[in-house]
Amino acid sequence: MTERGNAVGTGDQRELLREKIIHEQSRLGPRDTFRFRCHPGVSCFNTCCSDVNIFLSPYDVLRLKKRLGITSTEFLEKYALLPVQRDMTTPVVLLRMGEDETKNCQFLTEEGCGVYSDRPWPCRMYPVGLATSRDTEDGWRGDRFFFLLEEEGCMGHQEPKEWTIQEWLDDQEVDAYDEWGEAYKELSLHKFFEEGNELTPAKMEMFFNATYDLDKFREFVFGSTLLDRFDVDEQFIHEMELDDEALLRFGVLWVRFALFGEPTMKVKPQAAAEVQEKLEKRVLSSKSGPSMSPREEAS
Ligand code: SF4
Ligand code: SF4
Repeated sequence: MTERGNAVGTGDQRELLREKIIHEQSRLGPRDTFRFRCHPGVSCFNTCCSDVNIFLSPYDVLRLKKRLGITSTEFLEKYALLPVQRDMTTPVVLLRMGEDETKNCQFLTEEGCGVYSDRPWPCRMYPVGLATSRDTEDGWRGDRFFFLLEEEGCMGHQEPKEWTIQEWLDDQEVDAYDEWGEAYKELSLHKFFEEGNELTPAKMEMFFNATYDLDKFREFVFGSTLLDRFDVDEQFIHEMELDDEALLRFGVLWVRFALFGEPTMKVKPQAAAEVQEKLEKRVLSSKSGPSMSPREEAS
């Protein structure tokens, strides 16, 4: 099994992988060049879409479930794996491979990727990897740099087509993926975790729903008193009803407010005392003990 994607992962795995990349890989910048082309004529065509760990970001899930015309809940049940490990601070979501002996990606067709224009970020980026060094004062906002991945048996590297890194990124249309990837990384590497706090199972579920399971989060937002208690722009509320990206934007603000205690949401004056009381309970429960479920928090 191989790995693709470095945006998320469990704490120790992510740290080990990053250290290895930082010390062993040549750092590339946007103008550096490499040779690569993947097309149906290469002898290895389609062989790399089997038995591979592909980490999915919330935006990958958003794009794929929209592409397939299903809810995020259905997508996560059918196409994702949610490994649970002891050192996990935030949710980890992997693309689920087929369960037969080929272990092919469920989106693989004879012609190649069946969801090509909505394929996940790691599939777009290959053979370019992205890493962030940890050598700056604020801990994780280190230098971003690119490196080249050369999977064994990948004949694309023998092709004459030359790219600069920037040309490759433009060709693969990764801008929106990068933007959302950074937003998610800011959550998953938040100082809340560096300070030794942990999410209780109920809070982990809230984090997961507000970022990955947007259809469930929409039910929470519109089926609770949340919008009565917080001052949210009417236009934004309307957008959230229909548009998953708007909802994800709200989900990020909600996680920052409800789990990390940042002032990203404005409380309506009449609800101030009630919200303050819930926040105080939340601060206490992030240190130890059980917490309210998302549904209870909304009540
Ligand atoms: S999503 Fe597409 S490119 Fe990615 S592993 Fe599956 S078939 Fe391959
Ligand atoms: S192994 Fe490389 S060249 Fe072959 S199909 Fe995969 S990405 Fe393309």
